[in-house]
Amino acid sequence: MKKRVAIVGAGLCGSLLAALLRDRFAVTVIERGPKKRPLFDDVDCATGELNTSINRAEGLGGTTNYWHNALIELDDHDLRKAGIEPRGFAPYYQQAWSFFLSPSELAECNRAWESNRATVERGASTLAHMVLPQARHNAWQLANTRHPGAAIDVVYGHVDRITPGADGAPAQIEVRGKGGVQRVVADHVLVCAGGIGTPIVLARSLGQDDGMCGGYHDHPMAYVAKVKLRPDSKLKAVSCMATRSAEVRAGIIYTNDDLKTVVYLRPAIDMRLGSITGPARYILSDLRNDPFSPRKILRLLGNLEAVREAVLFKTRAGFRGDYYSVLILGEQTPLPTRGVRLARGKRPALNWEVTPAELRSYERGVDAFFAEYADDILERRVLPVGKWDFRNAAHHSGTADQFVARPGDTSLDFFAATQLPGTYVCDGSILRAAGIANSGLTLVALAYRLAELLRA
Ligand SMILES: Cc1cc2nc3c(=O)[nH]c(=O)nc-3n(C[C@H](O)[C@H](O)[C@H](O)COP(=O)(O)OP(=O)(O)OC[C@H]3O[C@@H](n4cnc5c(N)ncnc54)[C@H](O)[C@@H]3O)c2cc1C
Repeated sequence: MKKRVAIVGAGLCGSLLAALLRDRFAVTVIERGPKKRPLFDDVDCATGELNTSINRAEGLGGTTNYWHNALIELDDHDLRKAGIEPRGFAPYYQQAWSFFLSPSELAECNRAWESNRATVERGASTLAHMVLPQARHNAWQLANTRHPGAAIDVVYGHVDRITPGADGAPAQIEVRGKGGVQRVVADHVLVCAGGIGTPIVLARSLGQDDGMCGGYHDHPMAYVAKVKLRPDSKLKAVSCMATRSAEVRAGIIYTNDDLKTVVYLRPAIDMRLGSITGPARYILSDLRNDPFSPRKILRLLGNLEAVREAVLFKTRAGFRGDYYSVLILGEQTPLPTRGVRLARGKRPALNWEVTPAELRSYERGVDAFFAEYADDILERRVLPVGKWDFRNAAHHSGTADQFVARPGDTSLDFFAATQLPGTYVCDGSILRAAGIANSGLTLVALAYRLAELLRA
């Protein structure tokens, strides 16, 4: 008989792991909701905007139902900070790229990267290489297309806790669904409930209904300025290059106090700041994911400048113009005081605020950008630092720090929940750092590694 694997959460990692393990194990996926739906109300958040725009979601595919599938690799330095040994990790990144792109598509994107590097990398900064395949993929569908095989059982319901079996006995997973509470029995449990969901499941499984799951980090983003570029500035072409199947976007990275700040340019109509301040500043992304929200439609009507600039960005027409908004993404330090707080009888709460030290580091990054590109920038209007209005970038990471304790390990122990035998974690919660990268590609690479180790 095949051993049983239960996977908690059918998001990016859970979907891929289920598909990779389906022929070797009897796989059951437990997903909290059958419908594709944003999760606006499962955590409290006083830091702002976490519960009003889509930051995580349920349904098969999880948050990838709404994501942009922007793909970036971590460099070796960031991999080490993340707890991942860079030596030997390249083949998993290769598999992760192949999950999304064919070899010829990938080769085209790499050529664009080389050309961007040759154009702008000059010493003060390095380059963020972001690839956005034109087709947005739901991870469940893509994983099943790429890795078909034996049937996967899907159970819908909310996992409250995992009880490990004693002396090699199977684990029991308590699932609260429409028909009440049921138990799923499994030899191995993979927790893939996302950077916010996973620490809650792990803490409750250990009887910790009160306390802090710290170590949270993201790369919050803010618009900070508008600039007018020289008509022949190199920054225009590198900011967005189209290949046949993807867009390649270069960000300019500055590192201060071992924290990265990346600068992306977005097309603008003129130097007015109205489109990059106030609630409509991310309107296109908000509406694409949540098109029938009357509140968001009203915001849209109140800021037509933001709409016009969003269209310039989406159609790429604006990358031929001279005006640009400056968007920054900043790396965060995994602090024990930042994370998911549990309190008995209350909803868990997340704090993700930017600390004064992080803000100073980002400010130095922006100053370095203006200094490095002084010849390219003809005019600039910079928002005062106090008005940089940060938004969570939804790469919830680092919160399993206290539950998974083997950074740098290349064996199965890297993923093991130390106090829950037979339980492994694979999602953003195990990343101890993520630079300024969208973490999805690294999570896919980690899922390939975990599947390989489990199959072995
Ligand atoms: C709008 C948006 C755009 C994004 N764009 C990008 C991008 O371009 N590139 C990138 O790399 N990343 C992006 N991200 C982030 C990316 O989507 C996530 O990093 C990725 O989905 C994380 O995968 P995961 O498997 O950890 O979690 P998720 O995909 O969030 O999946 C977790 C799953 O677990 C389920 N779950 C949670 N708790 C429980 C429980 N107790 N019981 C049962 N099920 C549970 C949830 O319903 C969900 O389906 C974006 C996120 C958002 C919100």
